[in-house]
Amino acid sequence: QANERESMFLVSEYANTYFIKTLWETEPGKAIALSYFKERGFTDETIKKFGLGFNPNEWEAFTKSALDNGYQLEYLAKTGLTIVKEHAEGETKKFDRFKGRVMFPIHSMSGRVLGFGGRILTNDKKAAKYLNSPESNIYHKSKVLYGIYYAKKAIAKEDRCYLVEGYTDVIQMHQRGIENVVSSSGTALTPEQIRLINRLTKNITVLFDGDAAGLRASLRGIDLILEQGMNVKVCSFPEGEDPDSFAKNNAYEDVVLYLEENAKDFIQFKTSLLAEEAANDPIKRADTVRDIVNSISKIPDQIQKEIYIQECAKIMQISEEVLYNTLAQIDKKGA
Ligand code: ATP
Ligand code: MN
Ligand code: MN
Ligand code: MN
Repeated sequence: QANERESMFLVSEYANTYFIKTLWETEPGKAIALSYFKERGFTDETIKKFGLGFNPNEWEAFTKSALDNGYQLEYLAKTGLTIVKEHAEGETKKFDRFKGRVMFPIHSMSGRVLGFGGRILTNDKKAAKYLNSPESNIYHKSKVLYGIYYAKKAIAKEDRCYLVEGYTDVIQMHQRGIENVVSSSGTALTPEQIRLINRLTKNITVLFDGDAAGLRASLRGIDLILEQGMNVKVCSFPEGEDPDSFAKNNAYEDVVLYLEENAKDFIQFKTSLLAEEAANDPIKRADTVRDIVNSISKIPDQIQKEIYIQECAKIMQISEEVLYNTLAQIDKKGA
């Protein structure tokens, strides 16, 4: 329904305005949230550009303000901005979803507010660090990339997209002068998200946090990028660093240099990584070969496929013939 979606957009945009006003114009906003952003190294200009905001730790301050301004509870509930709970006695309770959090609005390709990510201000391990808007009629998580509205021009111009893990990675890189950056914000990469990038460039570099946790899990998701015929590089950061901290602590030239020197072709990277892990274990080596050939099988271009088979043969010290046979088996199963 067009009207329902439009009403949801309007209430989301009101929320964005409210959170921004709360950040800049209230005492708790300035004292707690603005200083938090400053601490992270964000300039006023950056905070404004990305529409960052704040909602204090109150039960229903935002919801009440929205209702007072004529927005309907129905759309507050449908966007997930307000949580409505029906109790047994027919009584309804309503409260803000985002409480005591700094707010990151999530924009569509054309700049409309689809939803929010909210971060707690402490490093309290008990509370979820980030809370996101729920899936809704306007916010389809699998089809959204954080930062795409701000990055699209630069992605086309640079003919490359950097894919990072989080909101602050996008923002900090952008502030440092590298604007062709987007994030899938903690969710596994989807074909729809890759298609958004594919319309702008064929070249992706995936940047991993230096915490190894995400790395193995993410390797599988990258096959989806190969499937769309894109060229994939990967680059990881030093232990304990992510693109946010790295861009915060290094000059533009040094970040660019780091990316140039450390971005590796995905298939080569994966092959070397897995080959090393399986070095002294023949069974594991066999699984590794199959895993890598499986990735290679996703590449639509025949010539590229052949080149990667040759590369893989060299790194794994296995004959090309065996690899081609494996490839043929995988293709047969897939078809
Ligand atoms: P920060 O620098 O603010 O601590 P980050 O972006 O470095 O955040 P990571 O732990 O690297 O955070 O996680 C990457 C992304 O995953 C986050 O930006 C966020 O989108 C998502 N994420 C992290 N923790 C959670 C959580 N507890 N619930 C939901 N999403 C999360
Ligand atoms: Mn991480
Ligand atoms: Mn991180
Ligand atoms: Mn971080």
